[in-house]
This record gives sequence, structure tokens and C-alpha cells, in this order.
Amino acid sequence: MADSAAPEAKTSNFLRHIVEADLAAGTHASRRWCGHPGAGPEQQAGAPDPAKIRTRFPPEPNGYLHFGHAKSILLNFGLAKDYGGVCHLRFDDTNPEKEDQEYVDAIIDAVHWLGCSWSHEAGENLYHASDYFGFMIQAAEALIGAGHAYVDSQTAEAMRTNRGTLTERGKDSPYRTRSAEENLDLFRRMQSGEFADGSHVLRARIDMAAPNMNLRDPVIYRIRKASHHRTGDRYCVYPMYTYAHPIEDALENITHSICTLEFEDQRPFYDWILERIADCGLLARPLPRQYEFSRLNLTYVVLSKRRLIQLVEEKHVDGWDDPRMPTLVGARRRGFTPEGFQLFAERIGVTKSDSLIDMSVLEDCMRETLNESAPRRIAVLDPVKLILDNVPEDHEELCEAPNHPQQPALGKRPIPFSRELWIEREDFVETPPKGYFRLFPGNLVRLRYGFVVKCSGCDKDAAGNIVAVHAELMPDSKSGTPGSDSYKVKGNIHWVSARHAYPCDVRLYDRLFAVPAPGARREGDAEGIERDFLADLNPNSKQIIAAQLEPSLKDAAPEDRFQFERHGYFVADRKDSRPGAPVFNRAVTLRDSWAANPGKGKK
Ligand code: ATP
Ligand code: MG
Repeated sequence: MADSAAPEAKTSNFLRHIVEADLAAGTHASRRWCGHPGAGPEQQAGAPDPAKIRTRFPPEPNGYLHFGHAKSILLNFGLAKDYGGVCHLRFDDTNPEKEDQEYVDAIIDAVHWLGCSWSHEAGENLYHASDYFGFMIQAAEALIGAGHAYVDSQTAEAMRTNRGTLTERGKDSPYRTRSAEENLDLFRRMQSGEFADGSHVLRARIDMAAPNMNLRDPVIYRIRKASHHRTGDRYCVYPMYTYAHPIEDALENITHSICTLEFEDQRPFYDWILERIADCGLLARPLPRQYEFSRLNLTYVVLSKRRLIQLVEEKHVDGWDDPRMPTLVGARRRGFTPEGFQLFAERIGVTKSDSLIDMSVLEDCMRETLNESAPRRIAVLDPVKLILDNVPEDHEELCEAPNHPQQPALGKRPIPFSRELWIEREDFVETPPKGYFRLFPGNLVRLRYGFVVKCSGCDKDAAGNIVAVHAELMPDSKSGTPGSDSYKVKGNIHWVSARHAYPCDVRLYDRLFAVPAPGARREGDAEGIERDFLADLNPNSKQIIAAQLEPSLKDAAPEDRFQFERHGYFVADRKDSRPGAPVFNRAVTLRDSWAANPGKGKK
């Protein structure tokens, strides 16, 4: 990760405490590492593990990463970095049906973009769970041999009924007492493709009366005659997630396997299965331990993959990387920063209690990081002409504007000035309301980084619309020249020279949903009515405007970020920009305008 602070400078949390206690106690000190994931005997033959701890981020490559994943990524990679460890990027690709290389590539990009690295002096740590399929089958056969697993041939329906309920114990399957030989024979025939999908499953033999339903003989293998994006048609059986995941962790020497709270009830099975396989001599001890934290929930977005897929497939947004999407590809196009996500992760912390974080917390983190790094530029988003009647038609001169008022080291840049300028439409009124200090007839205003002008009036078209504003230039008022500050003016407006301006499409993005909890029941909703989260989409979340920008913005490279003075933070779109013709997306406004003006899509 990009230079994060020393561990002691960071806010501590319960996971940091656990890691610190383990390091102090030497819990994982005896682990050995053969240089790559491997079974127990192979690891034992290796050198002492050079990584003090190993964590992992294990996405399933069945979609794009979202803001919730960012929390998990920064947590896992952050812990490893801070405690002399390594974090693995592991594709949890054990489900053949929904996974795709496109997602694998996008995930690698997104994790890198966040500033995280899976390289370690002892090697690259990028893995695929599907590489462990062979071991998983070997372990399953060992479990069968030791009497810890059996092939069940009940129908899915019967299995469901016999599982019992929270208050009622389950019933043993009539196949539960099959001999190890018979189980092994059946499991081998399942593997060779002899049986139809769903006709048999392999189950762990634990306890059908266990109060924790996850211990009532969970299924560990099912038949699926599906092609897998990496292993092709080699396998006819695929492991269940709850069986595969602990094994993946153990083969990779993971010390702290961190997941979200909904897996808490799975922990007993996680430990059970690893202990049994280790007893068979196939895994090295100490075994990995699972720890749970609460997932990120954020207002004004949805973070469920299923709903994100729906938004894309039904074209409510322009793809996964639509800047309004809470995906990392979307955030990147939006102009959000990796540093902003790091700040956010630090600020929200890690706990075990469920919470809902307000979107403004994330937006503030983006604002803060952008404020520090983004050079200032001038943009007129709703242009109207300002004509300076006492300036000759062909007059041109340069004014100077600081690139970053708080960081003088970033220098200044020239901006051309001429007789006709673009200004914001809202910076002129014929009759000023109280407290309005910008242009109105008779008023003096400073053109920022330029001259003081005195407004003389405006031109209108037949319909009464203002088409141009007129003013007179005060020649001795140029910013930075001696005596220029003798003009005392209250109004200060921005402008670009019309002749030099870069006319450009600017996309003003706003929150995708108009309410904090899309799809949630609201006061007054009839009992039993399900709200459709799509009904809560913000109709004003995207607006494209024809803006006039200062000429230097024409040279912006894709992903260059700027503050457009008085407006907010903008980025040159990485997809639609062409050399010499960037288009810009608004990342965030300068201040949180949403609380005062929800859903209005402030300009
Ligand atoms: P699915 O519903 O498809 O399982 P998922 O969001 O859990 O989706 P995974 O690819 O399985 O996607 O997630 C990878 C990792 O990211 C997991 O370890 C998961 O715990 C973590 N993760 C997912 N969503 C969140 C979230 N909202 N907050 C924190 N961590 C999350
Ligand atoms: Mg998941």
C-alpha cells in the first residue's frame, strides 16, 4: 500500500489486537513454507515461513469489486503490511458456472489501483482455488477412509426435510452408514461422470442433532457437469464453498482468515474440517483461524452483487464502470482516489457490530484527498458571454493563476485574457437580491486572477433571455500589479477567455439513489408491500452539460484530476477522452450539497 503510517499511528481494532497477541505468543512461529501453497508434508519440508502472518483477499470472480470489497482489501493487505506479513490475492473460483476471466482481470486491476501488492521477497502470492481441486478430492477421499464423510443418495427434497429445523433435530440419512469402501467407490464414480447432477452428494459425517445447523452433515461435494473457466471439463464434481475455503486457507499457510459476520456460524465447521484433514496427515499445524468483522453498509447505494448485476443488465446504468456505480471501476472513472478509500477505511474502522455508514463520510474522504492533490483549474459550467466594451477586439494578454493556493510550490500558470469572456450565468442578475455581490448593473466585481470590471447591463433575445452581459474594464486593476488592491470589491467571479476556451462535455454525476436505503420500507408503506429498489433510483444522477474550460485542460491526460474552482473535483474520463479532447466527470462537489438539497443534482 502507498506509504501508510506506522502501525502505532493507526487506530487499533480488535483484529490488530488479535494479531499482536499471536505475534507476542509466537502462535504461528513454527510454520514452514515451501515457497508455494502445498499440503502439510510439503510445507513441513520448507524453511521457516518468512512471512510473520498471512492474510488473504478471496474474491469470487463472478462480478466487479465494490466499495465493500475495498474495506476487506484494505483490511487484509493493511494488516499484512503492518505486521511483517503478506496478503494473498486468491481467486475463489470453485463454482464453475458464473465465473469469468474478464472479472479476474478487473479484480487484479482494482486491487493494484487501491495500492495493494501481493508480492513478497519470497514470491508472488496470486493464487486460484481451482488449482487445489486435486488436493480437495484427495482430502475428501481421506475423510471417507477415516469415516468422516459419506455419499448420500437422498433426493434434494428428502435431504432438506431430514435436516430438521432450529428447534427440531435432523434425521440421519439411510445412506449414512455406508461402508468406507462403498463410499469411496461411489465418490470415484461421481468423479468419473457416471451419475447425473444431483443424484449423489458427498457429506461430512458430523451430527444430525447439532444445534448449529451447519454441522448437520454439511454437503462437501456435488456433481456438476459444467465447464470451468480454468479447469475445463476435467472435473464432474465441485467442492462446496464451506469445504473449499478452509482448505484453501490451510494450503496457503494463512494465519488469520478474515471474513464477514455472516460466516460466524460456519466457524465450527471450518475448524472441524481442518482438524480432521490434519489428523489424516494432509495439513500442517498450526491451522488457520477464522475471524469475522462487520461488512460495510453504505447509504445511497446497493452493495449486493445480485442488485449490481441487475442495474447493469437492465441498463439502469452504463455498465459496471459507470461512474455512479459503487464499484471500484466506477469509482476510478468517477475520479475517486485510492488514498480516499484508504482514509475511509481508516476512519470507519473495523468492528463486529453492524452499522450503516453515511455516503457523505466516503465523499468527505474523497474531497480531503483531492483537495490536497488536485491542481486548480477554471471551468465555466453554465456559460454566458461577458463583453468588456472598452477592450479592443484583438486585445490579448496573459494573467497568472496559482496551481494550488495552499501549495505555492506547485507554481502558477498563464491564462489568456481577451475582450470576450465566458462567465457563469448565475454570476449576473439584473436586480440583485440582498447579499448578492456579483455582477449587476453599476457593480464592481473582480475577475479572479484578472481585472476589476464594472457591470453596465446585458443584451436579451426576443424571448427575454439574457444572451450577453456588458462591463467596463478598470485597466489599473490587474491582480498582482501595484495598486490593484486599492479596489475594494466584494464579488469575485471566475471566467475563461471565449476565444481561447476549450468547449467540452462535462458529466455531472450525483448519487445513484435518491434515498438512504434503496428498497427499504418507508413510513406509511402498507404492511407486506415489498419496495422495488429500482423505484428509488435518483432520476437526476447524471447530467451532461456543454461547458467552457480554460485552454490548458485540453491537454489533460485520462485520469488527471482537478479542482474546478468554485465547482468541485473533476477527472478526465479514462474511457471517453481522446488525445487533445478530454471529457470530464465530476467526482464530488466542493461541499456536501446533498443534505440541503437532496436529489436535485446541484449544478
Ligand atoms: P457474493 O454475494 O457473490 O458472495 P461477495 O460480495 O461476498 O458476493 P466475494 O467475491 O465472495 O463477494 O467477496 C470477497 C471478499 O470480500 C469476501 O471475503 C467478503 O467477505 C468481502 N466482502 C464482500 N462484501 C463486503 C462488504 N460489504 N464489506 C466488507 N467486506 C465484504
Ligand atoms: Mg461471498
